[in-house]
Amino acid sequence: AGTLTKPWRMTSLNELLDRIVHKNPLGADAMARGIENDEFFLHLQPKVALPGGRITGFEALVRWEHPQLGLQSPVNFIPLAEQTGVIEPLTRWVLGRAADTLADWKREGVETRIAVNVSARNLMSLTVADEFAQIVKARGLECSSFILELTETAAVTNLVDALDILVRLRLKDFALSIDDFGTGYSSLAQLQRLPFSELKIDRSFVSVSATSTEAANTIRATVELARRLQLDLVAEGVETETVERTLIDLGVPHAQGYRYGRPEPAEVWGPRLRQRVE
Ligand code: C2E
Ligand code: MG
Ligand code: MG
Ligand code: MG
Repeated sequence: AGTLTKPWRMTSLNELLDRIVHKNPLGADAMARGIENDEFFLHLQPKVALPGGRITGFEALVRWEHPQLGLQSPVNFIPLAEQTGVIEPLTRWVLGRAADTLADWKREGVETRIAVNVSARNLMSLTVADEFAQIVKARGLECSSFILELTETAAVTNLVDALDILVRLRLKDFALSIDDFGTGYSSLAQLQRLPFSELKIDRSFVSVSATSTEAANTIRATVELARRLQLDLVAEGVETETVERTLIDLGVPHAQGYRYGRPEPAEVWGPRLRQRVE
């Protein structure tokens, strides 16, 4: 019997995982370097009041200008950032950058709020409320100028600790929002018990609200739920006038979407906001 020769080099499973998680061009090491090298930047997208479209605040959406691969959407790197823990320094960076912008605008007489997306992984660190508050205070701002958006699909491995951390964040005066509402696991019991102040109806309901009776009814029920629980309500992903009119008829008080503004750098929004103040 001939010996079986292996033309390939054996790779251990650990080595393979390490390459996927750390050494790939969009991996944890590259992200950590990217934070150091200022490769990330923020776009801000307005949240508006209905009807009328007056801007009531912004959401910060992170982007990565990768030195080799070019512009990267968060859907391409947030999942690995969450798995590897790089999401911790990344979220601190996003909050810090959002706070820089609010501090600049405040000096120019513009007062508004910015929402920052927070991952379930961020709620595994017991010190996160103190860290976030420090980032905000260091810029002379109040935590109440920030909304933390949590995706309800995000798997929380230790729910008890996560709840404890949410309460700590709320005690610091951060507003808490449930992102992509309707797609995940938040139970009515949790909604009642947890210190949330805002629900964002997922785009999948909003975009078909003018054509699907089911979607419209779901939104109608959510409007009632939010009103009863005294939660603010935002419809995400509004693109057309038809959808806007449907949402106004259903009583949705706030909206976000391309119809009101694409995500754009703070430098684009600053002058438009100053114009309103002057
Ligand atoms: P999200 O928080 O639900 O943000 C809304 C997403 O929908 C954004 O995509 C936004 O650009 C897009 N969008 C807004 N209006 C419209 C519209 O009218 N039509 C359509 N088709 N899309 C619209 P983006 O910026 O690619 O972000 C995707 C997701 O990545 C976010 O969903 C959020 O879950 C996550 N993400 C973004 N930035 C961060 C961050 O700093 N930290 C964390 N943890 N996650 C982030
Ligand atoms: Mg969001
Ligand atoms: Mg959302
Ligand atoms: Mg969404």
